[in-house]
Amino acid sequence: MKSHAKAVVIGGGVVGCSVLYHLARAGWRDVLLIERSELTSGSSWHAAGGFHTLNGDPNVARLQAYTVQLYKEIEELSGQSCGLHLTGGVMLADSPERMDFLRLAHAKGRYLGMETELITPSEAKAMFPLMDETHFVGAMWDPVEGHLDPSGTTHAYARAARKLGAEIVLRNRVTELTQEPDGTWNVVTEQGTVKAEHVVNCGGLWAREVGRMVGLELPLLAMEHMYLLTEPMPEVEEFNRSTGREMIGVIDFKGEIYTRQERNGILLGTYEKAAKPWSPRQTPWDFGHELLEPDIDRIAPSLEVGFRHFPALQNAGIKQIINGPFTFAPDGNPLVGPVQGLTNFWCACAVMAGFSQGGGVGLALANWMVDGDPGFDVWGMDVARFGEWASLRYTNAKVRENYSRRFSIRFPNEELPAARPAQTTPLYDIMTRDNNAVMGDSWGLETPLWFAPKGTAPKDIVSFHRSNDFEHVGEEVRAVRERVGVTEIANFAKYEVTGPGAEDFLNRLMTNSMPKTGRIVLSPMLNEFGKLIGDFTIAKAQEERFMIWGSSAAQVYHMRWFEKHLPGDGSVRIHRFDQTLVGLSIAGPQSRAVLEKLADIDVSRDAFRFMDFRQMAVAGCPCMVNRLTYTGDLGYEIWMPPAYQRQVYMAIKEAGAPFGIADFGMRALLCMRLEKNFPTWFRELRPIYGPYEGGMGRFVKLEKNDFIGREAAAREQAEGPKLRRVSFVVAVSDADVMGDEPIWARVNGREFGTVAKSHGFGAQRFGADGGEIEGRAAPDGSGGASSVRGIEDGAWRVVGWVTSGGYAHYVRKSMAQGYVPAELAEDESEGLFEIEILGHRRPARINIDPPFDPVGERMRG
Ligand SMILES: Cc1cc2nc3c(=O)[nH]c(=O)nc-3n(C[C@H](O)[C@H](O)[C@H](O)COP(=O)(O)OP(=O)(O)OC[C@H]3O[C@@H](n4cnc5c(N)ncnc54)[C@H](O)[C@@H]3O)c2cc1C
Repeated sequence: MKSHAKAVVIGGGVVGCSVLYHLARAGWRDVLLIERSELTSGSSWHAAGGFHTLNGDPNVARLQAYTVQLYKEIEELSGQSCGLHLTGGVMLADSPERMDFLRLAHAKGRYLGMETELITPSEAKAMFPLMDETHFVGAMWDPVEGHLDPSGTTHAYARAARKLGAEIVLRNRVTELTQEPDGTWNVVTEQGTVKAEHVVNCGGLWAREVGRMVGLELPLLAMEHMYLLTEPMPEVEEFNRSTGREMIGVIDFKGEIYTRQERNGILLGTYEKAAKPWSPRQTPWDFGHELLEPDIDRIAPSLEVGFRHFPALQNAGIKQIINGPFTFAPDGNPLVGPVQGLTNFWCACAVMAGFSQGGGVGLALANWMVDGDPGFDVWGMDVARFGEWASLRYTNAKVRENYSRRFSIRFPNEELPAARPAQTTPLYDIMTRDNNAVMGDSWGLETPLWFAPKGTAPKDIVSFHRSNDFEHVGEEVRAVRERVGVTEIANFAKYEVTGPGAEDFLNRLMTNSMPKTGRIVLSPMLNEFGKLIGDFTIAKAQEERFMIWGSSAAQVYHMRWFEKHLPGDGSVRIHRFDQTLVGLSIAGPQSRAVLEKLADIDVSRDAFRFMDFRQMAVAGCPCMVNRLTYTGDLGYEIWMPPAYQRQVYMAIKEAGAPFGIADFGMRALLCMRLEKNFPTWFRELRPIYGPYEGGMGRFVKLEKNDFIGREAAAREQAEGPKLRRVSFVVAVSDADVMGDEPIWARVNGREFGTVAKSHGFGAQRFGADGGEIEGRAAPDGSGGASSVRGIEDGAWRVVGWVTSGGYAHYVRKSMAQGYVPAELAEDESEGLFEIEILGHRRPARINIDPPFDPVGERMRG
């Protein structure tokens, strides 16, 4: 074994081999994979080998599409077959709700370039005669599904990597990881120590143990998973003989079952409700190529449904039951990327569908390691999306919940109960017990969503349509717009940046100029490719001290970026408060009158202006107050240590009582921002958009200094954005957009090729000179250009996608935000756009000026 390597990849499952291959393909040839035993000695060897492109997160779906396309490439390079069977598959809907779910998935596929098709149960039966179609109401056909040989595929990656110069050492366990002061890793193994610049944890079933070697507790857990193989079935043989085709893959959501043909019988796997973790605390190092004891009772309820839905199975003999463990993160998506607080320690773990996702994970990580950026939007699988609250117990509860719900519908207004409450503020009891709040989970923190009337159950009725919160959220909005409301805002990220270098540091990171003392600015943050990676409210509290507020879910993600760019001379310190600083917001025309009663200083319009920041006592408690709110109304954000929150809240309620103050929740807040056309982070603003595309251009001061991403932003401005974020008013009556719906336009033959080029994976594979980085395939296999599919329907064409929306109660309009080609972004005419909601195309009209308070008199008032 060599003694030095640029990167050491720990683990020779399908994921480790894919990472190794992609690193070598990206030009890092001095890379070494170390495997404890033989290749595929974790989950990879006994996988069912199924692959598909569908995923709830469109960005992860694209990675899956890339993975499937990659197999031909590695087969050719390695000479090793992956045993591909591209059979296609159907998903069966047994209820109208499930059919709505499939309609949503199908609609989303329109702009992802997927050629799915909604079909009838009889059409599904023609493809898969084993089913009894009377149990179903419809189905969706996806041609890009199939299965492969898991071992062959892993070896194909490994051989292809070796051909490019990478090395693999087998039967050699990594036992310890230490780091030198200069950042070099000592990878201590049974066969000696390798010095490496980078270490990648692809430990699969042992990823937790590898993480613990560097003091990390990664949020992942292995679950037992069973599938069975039948004896040869005459029905299968007859189908093969009469059609000359293999049987397709099938997902039966009701039975929590997936099936496909295996030889001349059927393979049937389940994601059963009675999910069982495996090795919940520690994976034994001596676990090898053995299987777990099958437990047929656990999967019996699923099998019963399966036997009803696929009657031929009742007569089939069971040849073998496989029970093996594989790992999941709490939300079921992989954990990929650099770990905050460590240098050059990377993760590619919790990949639960290694044969659908392994290629995309390998590409993203290799891009990240080689170029410093994953190359496209990987938030859905970024290891930084979990906080400290994702402990061993939290993970255990969430992974079990996620596994047992794998084939369940997640409704847009559905909050999942496992592992809650994780974190609460001092107001939790008041909100739940006294105020009848319906609570939601906001990055591990219990947060009021809306307030149910006294005497009714504080519960959402989950639905794709407007639901039981509709009228009550409307009341909350009207209370704010007409009187005054108060809400908790503890679920924001809060940071403090201090030190003599603080202002220069922020000027280098942020696109906007820093404010004067006592003032606030809003500022996007860009990566080197000029794409949006953050959006902050920044106040200068005093010389050398700034307060920053941002998206709570992005706290670790942003800290990782901040720390990466901290100057080495100690002139800047950055502190993340998390829940050691909490907040309340009061908003509405009477909010100043409420604050006046609680403040000891002058808070009149001229003394405390819009976008001012003050450190002041509120109800006698030391607070920081921002004169702005996300409601777009006159209002204040008030920040305090948790010990004061209850007192300030009670005082606000008392002072506000004569004005008819009302509590309002996150849903009302989000709805008020819609009528102001305000964007949200992770929906409208994401790393696939430039600042001008996102409508954030006024916060970009190109002339101020050389901030990160300036050059690319200047180019975007000079050339003009290809896409533009727009707001729509949509003609609907009972179901608003949820996000990810396709936007159709009556284009009458006009072309939008530039849009296709600017969006998607290709968008960020641009070098500093604006040209595509050569030799680096984008996940759509196109070498850089991803496309909004030219789905045509007469003069109509899918030209964009919705990012979020809902009902804007005060202006009484259903609204949506999304991205369309810049050429169309200023056309407010009727009849130009339609948005596809639950299978129906609804007329939509661009609304350039916010429908509420278009000139901002209210918030400045
Ligand atoms: C029954 C079953 C059915 C499945 N069906 C499918 C399917 O149909 N489709 C699909 O896509 N996925 C399926 N999966 C999941 C799939 O197997 C996993 O997604 C995939 O195997 C994960 O690969 P990995 O490389 O991350 O981990 P692993 O395969 O667990 O590999 C990790 C490797 O790291 C090595 N290692 C760990 N620690 C060290 C160390 N300290 N030093 C050296 N080496 C180390 C291990 O020996 C192991 O070889 C299934 C899994 C099971 C169990």
